[in-house]
Amino acid sequence: MISVVVPSYNEEDNVIDCAKALSEVLSEEEYELIFVDDGSRDLTWQKISEMSAEDMHIKGLRFSRNFGKEPAIRAGLEHASGDAVVVIDCDLQHPPEVIPKMIEKWRKGADAVEGKKSYRGRESASHRLSAKFFNGIMSSATGCDMSDASDFILLSRPALDAVLEYGEEGSFFRALAQFVGFFHDTVTYEVKPRQKGSGKFTLKKLIAYALKNIASFSSMPLYISLILGIITIISSIILGILKLFDINLHSITLGIIILMIIGGMILCCLSVVGFYISRIYDEVRRRPKYLISEKTGGINDVR
Ligand code: UDP
Ligand code: MG
Repeated sequence: MISVVVPSYNEEDNVIDCAKALSEVLSEEEYELIFVDDGSRDLTWQKISEMSAEDMHIKGLRFSRNFGKEPAIRAGLEHASGDAVVVIDCDLQHPPEVIPKMIEKWRKGADAVEGKKSYRGRESASHRLSAKFFNGIMSSATGCDMSDASDFILLSRPALDAVLEYGEEGSFFRALAQFVGFFHDTVTYEVKPRQKGSGKFTLKKLIAYALKNIASFSSMPLYISLILGIITIISSIILGILKLFDINLHSITLGIIILMIIGGMILCCLSVVGFYISRIYDEVRRRPKYLISEKTGGINDVR
């Protein structure tokens, strides 16, 4: 059986079209569609419930509030009972027609089939640049090529179980899917324009998402603090030597500038360390990653 996990937040305009498109491409298969309503404030849950009453393939989970896309994906994965599971966005930006190709590659032996963006769709230059920067950091942190990666991924049951072994609070699905290893294959797809409604990530949400995921996979920001510290020490040694040879430095202005640079660096480094401490605090509290308020379609508690 194939399980399809669809994180959905305020997607009342898209859930029905998405279910239809998925049902069409999966008509030859045994399948289940798991819609995870991430605390929507519109009619998303109502529509999911209605669809699941009419179609036994459609199942739903409703969060008690908005927890974010990553917890929504995780909840779907934890409740999926298929031999393979596909994660796809609700807004049809990930083309469902690609799923049969993913299934074919899985049947030929791939444990993870990733959708790689061959065309990123229309994006602003700043969005493209920040995505490149973020994917670059994630690639070096995971040791895998994360450029053009997305959450549009098929996982076999063994790969899915391995991903679910990582119980950390800040888990990042698309990186974990690579990080666990197994035999990977790819299919390429073109990002389509969002079907209806607007993007659900505000700039604030995106920055928080990027920082959290970088911190959960990489200690690089801590090393950057170390490099800044070393640069400051070397600069102060050079200035000390210049002073020793009595080279005329406008001492007061220079002193203030140096103090400001050092103060700024200390503050930056402290905030990086503080950020990691807050991530440790989040992990040790072991709070639930999400809370489910309702279920529909007889969804199984697999885990
Ligand atoms: N999403 C979610 N919770 C959130 C934000 C987004 O479940 O807090 C879902 C959303 O409904 C969609 C997917 O994540 O199915 C991708 O969201 P969006 O299209 O806004 O992101 P983008 O396409 O810009 O990456
Ligand atoms: Mg989208």
